[in-house]
Amino acid sequence: MARKRVLVTGGAGFLGSHLCDRFIAEGYHVIAMDNLITGNLENIEHLFKLEQFEFYHHDVSKFVHVPGKLDYILHFASPASPIDYLKIPIQTLKVGSLGTHNLLGLAMAKKARMLIASTSEVYGDPLVHPQSEDYWGNVNPVGPRGCYDEAKRFQEAMTMAYQMHHGLETRIVRIFNTYGPRMRLDDGRVLPAFLSQALRGEPLSIFGDGSQTRSFCYVDDLVEGIYRLLLSDYHMPVNIGNPSEITIKQFAEEICKLTGVELNIEYQPLPTDDPQKRQPDISKAREVLGWEPKVDRAEGLQRTLEYFKEKVKVPAERMVN
Ligand code: NAD
Repeated sequence: MARKRVLVTGGAGFLGSHLCDRFIAEGYHVIAMDNLITGNLENIEHLFKLEQFEFYHHDVSKFVHVPGKLDYILHFASPASPIDYLKIPIQTLKVGSLGTHNLLGLAMAKKARMLIASTSEVYGDPLVHPQSEDYWGNVNPVGPRGCYDEAKRFQEAMTMAYQMHHGLETRIVRIFNTYGPRMRLDDGRVLPAFLSQALRGEPLSIFGDGSQTRSFCYVDDLVEGIYRLLLSDYHMPVNIGNPSEITIKQFAEEICKLTGVELNIEYQPLPTDDPQKRQPDISKAREVLGWEPKVDRAEGLQRTLEYFKEKVKVPAERMVN
């Protein structure tokens, strides 16, 4: 029987590359598409030797063409960390709007099911806690993060319009902070920043007083949730994340313990519109997908540390075993 064919946009990025691995492991033909603006071919170089894997170097905000049939499209192309989207706000808005529109058109033409990577950022700085899918959010459209948050909100609206108006099969995953191997050390997110600072023996930078909370999901758990959602018959948004919440200050302490360094913190001003609290309500994912995270933070951080040790140039006297 012919293999099912899946297109993963943003396939050279952190999450996209893990999705490529998963679909290859499940026996699919995988086409990764990426313009490499924040991604890295190293993340998928181990797949290039496989004949069931193809890579297209392409900007999805421009017209998208893929020869042959497609069963599924997973739209993961988008800068994802504040450091990236603050540098390229217009490309960020374009990939969420024009890019999504192009891919919805492709999905229509191929009669493919399309899943979009939305985000907890659609909830903005939330006024309810934890956040469930029926919360509409508290987003500042004209603040610095507006380019990302509103691109993703538009992306959801456009996807729902295709579902309602054209009967296209669509899925929407709202991803909460995810971590694991292949994150970029310099992507500005708290986890790679803390891990690389600890490994280099530098003080850990905390923005604000460290009382803000985050909930971190290990990448394998996220990929499992996305896989189940794609194959489900549920078209409304589903939160995928790990509800185990921690303050940034406690998180700094955990990282220091893990890497065996003394706690040394440098406090810096809080960026504009930084959310105070973030915690997914995953009742929907439990109910519809029978999904919940399996990898706890201690285990996930240990696996991520192994990857970071390879990447960070650690002074010899700081080497941890
Ligand atoms: P990433 O930056 O590692 O990956 C994004 C990939 O998209 C990169 O390889 C980049 O080169 C590519 N890309 C960007 N614009 C493109 C364009 N116009 N055309 C083609 N390729 C383009 O980020 P990530 O963390 O892997 O995030 C992937 C997706 O998941 C994004 O849509 C992001 O918004 C979403 N998401 C991620 C998280 C998270 O915690 N990592 C949380 C919520 C949502």
